[in-house]
Amino acid sequence: MTRSFTNRVFRFAPSSNGYLHLGHAYSAMMNYALAQAAGGRFLLRIEDIDIERCRLEFEQAIYEDLDWLGLSWETPVRRQSEHFQEYASALVKLSALGLTYPCFCSRREILDAVAGQTDWPRDPDGSPLYPGVCRHLSQEQQQRRIAAGEHASLRIDMEAALVKAGRHLDWREMGPDSQVRDVAAEPSLWGDAMLSRKDIPASYHIAVVVDDALQGVTDVVRGEDLFMATGLHRLLQTLLDLPAPSYRHHAVLRDASGRKLSKSSRAKSIRALREEGLSPAAVRDRLSPDLIFAGDP
Ligand code: GLU
Repeated sequence: MTRSFTNRVFRFAPSSNGYLHLGHAYSAMMNYALAQAAGGRFLLRIEDIDIERCRLEFEQAIYEDLDWLGLSWETPVRRQSEHFQEYASALVKLSALGLTYPCFCSRREILDAVAGQTDWPRDPDGSPLYPGVCRHLSQEQQQRRIAAGEHASLRIDMEAALVKAGRHLDWREMGPDSQVRDVAAEPSLWGDAMLSRKDIPASYHIAVVVDDALQGVTDVVRGEDLFMATGLHRLLQTLLDLPAPSYRHHAVLRDASGRKLSKSSRAKSIRALREEGLSPAAVRDRLSPDLIFAGDP
C-alpha cells in the first residue's frame, strides 16, 4: 500500500479456522478500499485464539487468497495466539476492578439450568443468558474448587460492570455515503458474557478490543452479524480505558436460500473458486467496492 497520509487505520481480522469465502473477500476488499480512499493503513490480523480449531494451513491460505485478490497489508501480521499475555493483563485489570468471577459451569450445566424455561432470555448469538449459578460463590468456595483442579472460565459481572461504566454508552456508526449516526450500545443483552473459556485463556470479545486498541485501529469495518457485539466491546473499552474506534457494519453475503455465508454452511471458498478457474478480476468485479457500497445497509 502507498504511504498513508491520514492516521486512519483499518483492519481485516479473519479467524484461521477454515478457508476464506466470498463473504470474507467482500469484507477484506471493503476495508482495503476504504483505507485507500482515506489514505490510511490496512492491517491484517489473524484471530487464532481458538488454538484447537485454527491451523497454520488455513492461515497460509488466508495470505495466499488475499494476495491473489490483489490486496497487500502491513507486516508483521499480528497473530492473536502470540498475545495471550496481553489479553490476560486486560482480564487482570477487570478482575482487580471486581468486575469478573470464575465460572465452573459446563455448557451442559447451563442448558440444564435453563431447561424447560422457554422464555429464558438469549444473547444476540442465540445462546441462553448465563443463569448466574457461579455469580455469588464466596472467594473461599472459588479457591477450593480451583485448588481441587476444577477449570474455570471467567465471566463479566454485567450488573457491576454497567454500574462501573456509569454512563450511557454508544458508538459512531459510519454508513454508506458518509452517513454517520450514534448507536446506543446495549451490552446487557449479553448478560454475564464469557471473557475467557476453560480451554482458551481469552474470548473473542476481550482479544478484539485489546488488539484494536494496541494496533491503533480507528475504523472497525466488519459484518452486521457483529453489530450487537459492538455494544459489549464498547463496554469493555470503557472499563479498560481504551479508545473507541468508529464502526461500520456492512451487509453480510447470503446464499440463494438467504443463509449467511459461513465456513460452517460450507460456502464455497475463494480457493475453490480459484481452482474452478475464476480470475481475481472476476471475483473483484462481483465484489467491487461500488457494489459493496451500494449493497451496504
Ligand atoms: N474474527 C472474526 C471473524 O472472522 C471477525 C472479528 C472482527 O472483525 O471484529 O468473524
